[in-house]
Formats: sequence, C-alpha cells, structure tokens
Amino acid sequence: MSLSEPVFLRVAIDTPLDSFFDYRFSLRDEAGALLPVPAIGSLVLIPFGSQQITGIVLQILHETAVPPEKIRDVLAARPQLPPLSEEWLGLARFAAEYYQRPLGEVVLPSLPKNLKAIKTVALDRALKKLSKLTAAPTQTPVAQQEASLNAEQAAAVAAVTEGKGFAPRLLFGVTGSGKTEVYLQAAARILAQSATAQVLILVPEINLTPQFETHIRHRFPGVMLATLHSGLAEGERLLHWLAAHTGAARIILGTRLAIFASLPDLQLVIVDEEHDPSYKQQEGLRYSARDLAVWRAHQRQIPVLLGSATPSLESWYAVQHGRYQLSELSQRAVQDAVLPIVKIINLEKEKPSEGLSQRLIAAIRLRLEKGEQSLLFLNRRGYAPVLSCDACGWISQCTRCTANLVMHKGDHRLRCHHCGLEQRIPRACPTCGNIDLQPLGRGTQRLEETLAAMFPEARVFRIDADSTRLKGSAAAAFERVHEGEVDILIGTQMVAKGHDFQRLTLVAALNPDAALFSQDYRASERLFAQLMQVAGRAGRRAQAEGGNASEVYVQTRYPDHPLYHALMAHNYRHFAADMLAEREQAQLPPYMYQALLRAEARELQTALDFLQQAAACMPHPMITINDPIPMTMTRVANRDRAQLLIESASRPALQAFARLWITELRSWKSRVKWSLEIDPVDI
Ligand code: ADP
Ligand code: ZN
Ligand code: ZN
Repeated sequence: MSLSEPVFLRVAIDTPLDSFFDYRFSLRDEAGALLPVPAIGSLVLIPFGSQQITGIVLQILHETAVPPEKIRDVLAARPQLPPLSEEWLGLARFAAEYYQRPLGEVVLPSLPKNLKAIKTVALDRALKKLSKLTAAPTQTPVAQQEASLNAEQAAAVAAVTEGKGFAPRLLFGVTGSGKTEVYLQAAARILAQSATAQVLILVPEINLTPQFETHIRHRFPGVMLATLHSGLAEGERLLHWLAAHTGAARIILGTRLAIFASLPDLQLVIVDEEHDPSYKQQEGLRYSARDLAVWRAHQRQIPVLLGSATPSLESWYAVQHGRYQLSELSQRAVQDAVLPIVKIINLEKEKPSEGLSQRLIAAIRLRLEKGEQSLLFLNRRGYAPVLSCDACGWISQCTRCTANLVMHKGDHRLRCHHCGLEQRIPRACPTCGNIDLQPLGRGTQRLEETLAAMFPEARVFRIDADSTRLKGSAAAAFERVHEGEVDILIGTQMVAKGHDFQRLTLVAALNPDAALFSQDYRASERLFAQLMQVAGRAGRRAQAEGGNASEVYVQTRYPDHPLYHALMAHNYRHFAADMLAEREQAQLPPYMYQALLRAEARELQTALDFLQQAAACMPHPMITINDPIPMTMTRVANRDRAQLLIESASRPALQAFARLWITELRSWKSRVKWSLEIDPVDI
C-alpha cells in the first residue's frame, strides 16, 4: 500500500443500530508523519453525530461506500492499549449472534468505563500502576498449605487437569464436600504448567468474592489476582481489567460479567454454583455466563469445571447424555461432619405463632443454650408484604405496578420493590379514614422484631438487601456471623449460598411453599436448589469438636410434597430424575429450545397486538409459536407487559428463525418497546 493511499477503519460502537461505521484514518504526529494504523481490536475515538465516542476497530479497509464528502476522521487512537484479540472478538461475535444483539452492544458495554473515556488520563495512570505492580512480585504459582485431598477430590483434580482439549466436567459435590479445594488445587496445577496460564473463576454472587479472594490469596501469595464484579470503583475496575488483558493477572475471580474479560492465555474455567440463576443477565444482553463459559472453553479447547450440589437440569442432562463428564464428591470433606437432618413441620397441625412453630422455637432456644448459631431463611425483605384496612378492605397497592407496596417499618415507608415508588406509611386508611391499619404477612424485618422480643438475651441479626445497602456493609455483616457475634441470623437468599458458617447447627425455612405452585416451570427446580443450599450452611464443623448433628426445619402446609421428601433424603439424583421426566413429558427445556419475545406499552392491548402481528408474520414448520399472553406481573412502572413464547426441538432452527424474525420486527419501526430473549429463564 502506498503512503498516500487512504485508510479507512470499520468501527463498532455502542448503539442499537445493527451496523458498523467507516472512518478515515489520517492521524499524524507532531512532526507531520502519519501515525501507525490501529490494529483490529484497537479502541479509537471517533465523532458520532455531535458527540465524541469510543469504538472498536473491526476491519481495516482501503475503500468505503461512504462518499468522500461525508467521511469523517478518527479523532484519536490509543496505541498504549494492546488491541483486543481476534479470539476475544470471536467471543463477542458469538454472544452477539447467539443472543441476537448488535455486536457493538456486546463489545462496548463489556469494557470498563475509564477505558472508553475521551481523555486517556485514567488509562495511562492504570497502565503505570500495573507496570509497577508487575515489576514488584515475581510470580510464583507455588501453592501454599494445600489440604491433603480425599480420594474423590484427588480424582476430580486429576480428571480436570489431565484432560486434553475441550473437556467440560460437572463437579457434583454435596454442600461442604470441599469443592473449593478442588478448584484451588486444579488451578495450582494449571498455573504450574506454564508461566503465562490464566484461570478464570466465576462465582454467582458478589458477596461470595471476599471469602474466595481470601482463599486464593492465602494459597497463591505470589500470583496476581484480578477481581471483576459490579462493586468495584471505576479506577479499580480498569486496573483489574488491564491486569487480565495484559496477562499479568493469572487468576481472575468474578461474577457473571467477568466472562467477558479479555484473557490472552486462558487455560481453565471454573464456574462455582453453576446452577445459580444469577449467572443469567436479566437485561440488555441477556446472556448466560455459565453457557458462555462452556463456549469459551470450547473455543480455546481447554477444560471447564462446573461445580454444584444441585446442578442445573441442563448440566445434569448433559452428563446423562455424555456431553459432560462427571466427578462426584459424595461426602462432607471435614472428618466427621455430616449433612444435617431435615425435618418437616406441618403447619396445618402445628399452628405457628408469629410465623414460628413451637418446635422451631424450642430448637432455637436449644441452640442459644449451647452457644450455637441458627439461621432463619425467609426470602422476603421488608416488614410486611402489604398493609391493609380491616374496615373497608383497602390494601397498599402500587399505583404504577401490578404489585403491593411493601411496608418498611424502620423508615416508615411503603415501597414498591419493582418500580421503586415510595411513600410514607399513611396515618389512616386513604379510603375510609380508619386509623387501625394492619400489616399482613411477614418479611425479614418483622421476623427480626419477633425474635428480638422472644429471645431478649440473643444477638439477632438480619442480612438482606436493605440491611446491606452501603458499600462494604455486606462483607462486614458476614464477618460478624463468621466471628460468632451473632446467635440468630435472619436472611434472604443472600445468606443461602456458598458461605462456610462454622458455628451454625440449625437452619429453618419459614415459608417456602409459594414456589411450589408458581406458574414458572422452573420454580421448583429453583426452590429445591435454594433449600438444599441453605440447608447446606449447617453442620460444617466436626461433631467431635462439640457439634451436634445439625438440623434443618422446613415449615410447610404441604408436608407430603415430593420436593420436600427429596430434600429430607438429600437426594438430588432422585429429584433431578423426576424433574427431567416431567420436562420430557411436557416437552420443556432441556428437551426443547425456547425464545421469548417481550413487549411493553402504555396499554396492554398495544403490546398484545404487536405480539399478535409478530406471531403471524413468519410461520415456520419447525417453530411452535404460542399465543401472546400478558406477563404475570402485567404492569411495572406504568407500562403493561406481554410475552410470546416460541419453541423448537432444534436449536439451529430456532437461531435461524430468530435472526430473520428480529430483522423483520426491526423493520416495522413500531413504537412498542420489545426485546427477544434466547434461552429465557423467567417465563
Ligand atoms: P463446598 O464448596 O463443597 O460446599 P467447601 O469447599 O466450603 O465445600 O469445604 C467445606 C469444608 O471442608 C471447608 O472447611 C474446607 O476447608 C474443608 N475441606 C475441604 N477439603 C478438605 C480435605 N481434603 N480435608 C479436610 N477438610 C477439607
Ligand atoms: Zn379503610
Ligand atoms: Zn411499582
């Protein structure tokens, strides 16, 4: 190419328009010499309308269809940042195609904000800091203080690290069976195999990162660890992202968004609690980090380890069909620690007072006498789910949603948990003036109040989204529990997973029944996993060290429900077999592939009409197109919502259909707001 020949860059930017944009590259240095053309995967600053924005270079061209009078110039390049690799762009391209979103909407939002800033001050500062850090700890992947593995753990570590190429493996291990130890020792072996190897570890919840981070830092003092989750300040986020991108960080620990980290030498992917619904992003690009983890491992032909005590039915099905290998840890790892005994309390026979049956109260009292901890699991925050007037039947409803306003007693508020609407608790009924308004039902705040009154000598402590709103407060709260400063812990799903509470010998699920009869066919799978997880917090200490056999109480009106029986027997296999049989019978995933078209509008009928047209516009022999229906919670924030489910026994057919369909729908330029979700989880 001659120097005078113009160069154009095809750039992707963060826009819902599914297209790329061409710019001329003619930047010169101060001496007037043409700067090197940015490589594919580089970030460039470009004009877009009246704005300056950052885009990513996808192609380098010598001609463009944009007429010369319309072509605009790249404003700045970022030569100090190594370009994103073809491989990483391959991941982004796959996610964009699979989840049916424009590439730019996948790539740009996955990058740290400071990387995309107009000025490069933050980038330069972070790069400088990183080079200081890399110059300081020679990186020795020597693992410290390894526990000696039991036979099942050793077999799992060997299987993960000795496999060749793409090797997806499910680590099915009961709660407390030492899955973490398997992850750490597998990571140690992979890191020891080469000087540049990187290991990516995904955890479902930001609250689980500190516990994991501590383990990793203890075990690998000489290795740079990057953490990636939504709780990082922008400066930290950029630093950690760069550490991963440049290869300086050898272990990358993060929540679902970390699946988009740029990792030049990824050699092992670990997904802890792989069944957890938090791996699914629920807005924008609705990806499954678990599924993308498997895809990345396939792309690089490396092992991927999915760990769980209650695997997702998708992963379990993949094991049954030989697509995934299985490693099992069948017992608790700590000598003499056993799974808790699960007891069902029939609420029809044992009437509760203030939501607690006498047997449960006695069990809590016993724990207090022995200085042991109890955990009460109630997946409903606030004081009471609704406030009501006995005189006229008024109840506190959100004016903007099909939902009740939840009573929060501490700050005297009624709050909508869906749209955020807030108001003071009224002094009197807005309809009839009655001043004796009653909270109905029970949330975690009310339970806290009840227990504090019942056991004045006990240290009662609540952990939920309300009590841990401030940055750092969740970590501090969990620390209190670990330190033994809490006797009775009350919590939502936040406390149910992952935590290794040593002093806990009693767990109670107060009110889990609602999920048994949900319209969502995944509700019982989720409930079972949640109860197995929360039950698994108990009894982690050896009984010989003074621990008794720990107990789990489930309060229910349906004591004979098979789900509770499977729970009593700690029998995941049985439960999974039943569920898979049901799914096959009903032709639901994993026997079927689904996509969900959602639409929202001011009037429900507008949304339904849009979906009706969408349903009729493209009949296809391999696709089942269901009828549009209003969503269960129809109205949120003054918008009515409806959905249309499409299904196919063939994933490629569904993909191909969705691509054409979405192109058609885009061309309608409808005012209805709509989105298409592939592999939806909340139906
Ligand atoms: P899981 O993640 O499977 O629920 P953890 O990894 O939290 O279980 O392990 C539970 C407990 O068992 C931890 O206290 C851990 O230190 C301990 N542990 C793990 N492996 C071993 C082992 N091989 N020998 C003794 N204790 C172990
Ligand atoms: Zn009233
Ligand atoms: Zn609302």
